[in-house]
Amino acid sequence: MNDPSPVSGSGWETRADSWLREWTGPLTTELLLEPGRFGLGKVPVRLKPDAVARSVCGYCSTGCSLEVHIKDGMAVNLTPSVDYPVNLGMACPKGWEALTPLSAPDRVTAPLIRGESGEFREASWDEAMRLFTERFKTTMSRFGPESVAYLSTGQILTEEMALLGAVFKFGMGGLHGDSNTRQCMATSHVAYKQSFGFDAPPYTYADFENSDVLVFIGSNLCIAHPIMWQRVLRNARKPEIIVIDPRGTETSMNATQHLALRPKSDLTLLYGVANVLVQNGWIDHAFIEKSTSGFAAFAEFVRQFTPDKVAAETGLTVGQIFRFAETIHRGTAVSFWWTMGVNQGHESTRTAQAIINLALMTGNIGRPGTGPNSITGQCNAMGSRLFANATSLLGGRDFRSAADRESVADALQIPAGRIPSTPSLAYDQIIDGIADGNIKGLWVIATNPAHSWIGRGDPVVGAKPSYSSKRPASLDAILDRLDFLVVQDMYATTETARRADLVLPAAGWGEKEGTFINSERRFGHAKKVSRAPGLALSDFNIFRLAAEYWGCGELFREWNSPQAVFQILKRLSAGQPCDITGIEDYTHLEAAGGIQWPFTRAQHDELRQAAATALPTVPGSAPANLPERERRLFVDGRFFTLDGRAQFIFDAPRPVPEPPDKLFPLVLLTGRGTSAQWHTNTRTGKSAVLRALYPTRPYIEVHPEDAALLQLTENEVVRVSSRRGTAHCAVCVTATVRPGQVFIPMHYEVTNQLTRPEFDPHSRQPSYKHCAVRIDRLALLKNHAG
Ligand code: SF4
Repeated sequence: MNDPSPVSGSGWETRADSWLREWTGPLTTELLLEPGRFGLGKVPVRLKPDAVARSVCGYCSTGCSLEVHIKDGMAVNLTPSVDYPVNLGMACPKGWEALTPLSAPDRVTAPLIRGESGEFREASWDEAMRLFTERFKTTMSRFGPESVAYLSTGQILTEEMALLGAVFKFGMGGLHGDSNTRQCMATSHVAYKQSFGFDAPPYTYADFENSDVLVFIGSNLCIAHPIMWQRVLRNARKPEIIVIDPRGTETSMNATQHLALRPKSDLTLLYGVANVLVQNGWIDHAFIEKSTSGFAAFAEFVRQFTPDKVAAETGLTVGQIFRFAETIHRGTAVSFWWTMGVNQGHESTRTAQAIINLALMTGNIGRPGTGPNSITGQCNAMGSRLFANATSLLGGRDFRSAADRESVADALQIPAGRIPSTPSLAYDQIIDGIADGNIKGLWVIATNPAHSWIGRGDPVVGAKPSYSSKRPASLDAILDRLDFLVVQDMYATTETARRADLVLPAAGWGEKEGTFINSERRFGHAKKVSRAPGLALSDFNIFRLAAEYWGCGELFREWNSPQAVFQILKRLSAGQPCDITGIEDYTHLEAAGGIQWPFTRAQHDELRQAAATALPTVPGSAPANLPERERRLFVDGRFFTLDGRAQFIFDAPRPVPEPPDKLFPLVLLTGRGTSAQWHTNTRTGKSAVLRALYPTRPYIEVHPEDAALLQLTENEVVRVSSRRGTAHCAVCVTATVRPGQVFIPMHYEVTNQLTRPEFDPHSRQPSYKHCAVRIDRLALLKNHAG
């Protein structure tokens, strides 16, 4: 019975009563709005805050600032900061809902140890850390330092990443650790490092507003980085927007040119455009001469990419290719933006460098509105690239360089001999190490490989795997080979945590303090605004506990708080391109609205000096030690290579590893589903508001022609298979994909049952964006089985 009225009967009186009076829902007093103070406008009375705390969002790399509303010591609400240079008062659905995952009912509130029965039981931190130490120490003493590894994340704070990398490698004596930034940003890291001499995204978000031509390659900015897209919308120059993407996306629908090329033919297209630019003399000779090397060889190399050949290979017309090149030529400020459509490919590093080459040869770098600009994924992928101490030594250094090891040892006051002279294995090599039995213990921190890792499925019966590997095909089978799996997370319910021997309960964003570095190199301060539940600890404190129980705590006495580690990071950055010695502390960061690297001590002192000799500042103006809010790199045309010149780097395109064939005739594309979803949905899945904004059931986009051919109907559940696995998905018939292509969002657990474990040889980033699949109707399968 669902009658809202207490009046019995079923006549018109009942209906009239329910029209006149609502019997459920909030009372009028609860709906009243009052001035919220703190510049917040009006808020509901029950949420009127006593204070606000400003913090940087912990989802994506945009790095929006949020005002967290505190009432009676609790974080009760939040709103985007209006005067922060990144988001200017805006937030996407994930940011608005950032507090919700903290109160999810499945938060893990005590360490969990898997008992003899196979069930978890709660334990004290003392018992948990003794077990952690005993199991990992025993393994390392029997099988050597390479037998234990960790997989971390771009979601934790920079201070935490640095502490983890230092404790594991310099304290515990381990060698191998990588993070899920391998899945998103390894390509940009390597591409910039090789081309510029350092991993240095050159831009600032103001460049979205200052370009007259914006080129987006493999980026659906509208939903993947919605606040960056808002910056594009603020561009008053009526810019040309060119989108290079096989799919029709929310971004391509707003483009002036959409180049819907054949999947993974982007490298060929970019070389073809470079050739048109060279052949027409549409290049910046002065810049090339002064600031680059290797152009002559590059120009010669791209001659073979004639418009006809490129048209045939990409599926575009010669006219489209020529118009693209001509638009670049006519632009006075051209910016190139790329993200996962490029980074997650089988030849991703060279593709990213082909974009860099276009910017270099046309002199579109170092000026407002220009740049070859990689857009980062996770909130702290940039922090991971500089300070995780995984495959690069702290501060963007090289483990193989004795000089770099000495300089880190000096900065940390530790013996140089404690620093390994080889970099870590990459993520996929760690997985292979487990499969081969060489890695027996794994510590997973705030990531969920049992959902997100590529090609997790078993081979389909009767289908020959198209890659050679000694390892078992399924990631589940590989993880089962571990002797000891530790998962440190906010929830014990993730696909990975459910397989753990030991779960360490961790605080989430908002429950701890430190810094994130966003896509435009901006350090932002994230604050503790809420208490972690039960016995959960910040990742920072868990790493400190690990050091103490291991017996190497003495080495890390100075690393006693995030603030103290921030000062260590400054020392580690000194003299590096990412020098932040001019940032005083967290208070300075907050006053400045975040600070982009580099900001050196000399720059800081210069500002102070200038302020001391200047006329008195207007009351209320910014203090003297704050740098400009938007700064870009390479303004002087000097790069971080030994000779100061950017390099043209190129290679011949390679065929896709798994083209469609008779058995698997469709190309599977994957990508972000909506702006309300974050990666494996571990946190976004906790919010009813966000869940209402996306289909919770896996779905597959199929072109109407393919749907007709396969006799598929809208919403029909089908079996999608690749050589590695199967997934059941509801059909969404749409022309966003081309005939012969299908799309499944990355957020569903089933998606990576299908993807193929293929890696870019330079960055070792997985190629999530292309593999061959087939679709079978369930009814036909049943009939066949019958
Ligand atoms: S998820 Fe990204 S775009 Fe959304 S509010 Fe957070 S930082 Fe901003």
